[in-house]
Amino acid sequence: MIRIPFLLFALASVSAAQSGPCLADAFLDVSEAPGAGPAYPRPRVEATCEGDELVVRANGIPHYEFVQVTPNPLLERNNEFRLPAKPSLADKPVPIPLLGGIGVAVNGIVIFGPNEGPVPAEEQFGDPVFNAIMDACMGHTAQEYHYHAMVQRCLSLGAKDGDPSPILGFGYDGIPIRGPWGCIDADCNKVVRHRSSWEKVREPHQDAWDAYEYVEKDGPEYLDACNGHAHDDGDYHYHVTETWPYILGCYSGTPTGGPVRGRRPPEISQARPGQRGERPGPAANRPPRAGQGGGPPRGGPPRDQRPRPEEVQAVASALNKDVAEVAKALRVEPGGIKPINFAASARTLEVDTAKLIESLGRTPPPPRQRRNVAPPGEPECFFRCGQSEENAVGCTLTPEHKVLCFRPCDDNKCG
Ligand SMILES: [Zn+2]
Ligand SMILES: [Zn+2]
Repeated sequence: MIRIPFLLFALASVSAAQSGPCLADAFLDVSEAPGAGPAYPRPRVEATCEGDELVVRANGIPHYEFVQVTPNPLLERNNEFRLPAKPSLADKPVPIPLLGGIGVAVNGIVIFGPNEGPVPAEEQFGDPVFNAIMDACMGHTAQEYHYHAMVQRCLSLGAKDGDPSPILGFGYDGIPIRGPWGCIDADCNKVVRHRSSWEKVREPHQDAWDAYEYVEKDGPEYLDACNGHAHDDGDYHYHVTETWPYILGCYSGTPTGGPVRGRRPPEISQARPGQRGERPGPAANRPPRAGQGGGPPRGGPPRDQRPRPEEVQAVASALNKDVAEVAKALRVEPGGIKPINFAASARTLEVDTAKLIESLGRTPPPPRQRRNVAPPGEPECFFRCGQSEENAVGCTLTPEHKVLCFRPCDDNKCG
């Protein structure tokens, strides 16, 4: 049974961090930063306070040297995030989405959750840190450069290890994300490195959310299931951790922020394939769009697709399994805050995904086309992971956030 510390939500004195001014100043001035490199556009991030929103406009280019760990090109974006400037805690934690953005770092880079996408087969929805597909700042490129974990020294030049950490980003609920160190007494006589309370129960190659369980722990260094905590003065925030879930395990507030959809922000300069040395590809040929971070639409919480109790009962009957076992596999056990993932649930229950979804009374999506061909515009030496390929040298992520293996070609196009 997973126990969630709802206690902090019941404390009247606890509030989300900003009772004071909007925290636009937490964002970096990247105008003098070295940038990603001479082949790339300059980084751009602007944060302003507009009414009750913290508005962040950024082009998704890191302010430090880009070291390519996947063959996906680093492309300029045109992102606009609107976060609640004065967030409040929700009645109970809200699951983060399985895929896509959940926050924005102080350099304007989008933050994703702690799992990767559905390909390759043996690493579906695995832990990308464990599977070693991140750069030294815990970012990598797919549709855009994004973080699955955060490294304080990459996001704060002034911060020293062992000193109370600065804000490194914000969740889409507007709650600040601080670095790993924090004071545990009012006078800050003692600083600790905060620790996640999630425990690894098996190797997270695949279905990372099923490889970790939250177990409430005593000790001021330990964080709640969302990777946050409240200080004595009632200030609630998240801390990044060295271990899963690295940044956020869930939202403690209401995720009304995120990329703006439905209107186009002002134009900024766009990457042009072939002019700055990017690899030509389909994504490079179209202008960047706002709202591709994959976060929840603005103005409301994410659509609730969590199975209802009667659906859990129906699945248990159809599969002739115990209701509690099915609820846990579907990630809807009491207090559960893991993102829904029917493919992972089906693996746990040892049934076909389509059959599980039908048992829920829902319509399965059309089967995905599985073709061993390169994405449009990419060299033909890409192939789907999951195949036996002794010359494979690594994996990459497509604009659809799928992982592909790659290997050297005869003509060295992909080598
Ligand atoms: Zn990723
Ligand atoms: Zn703290």
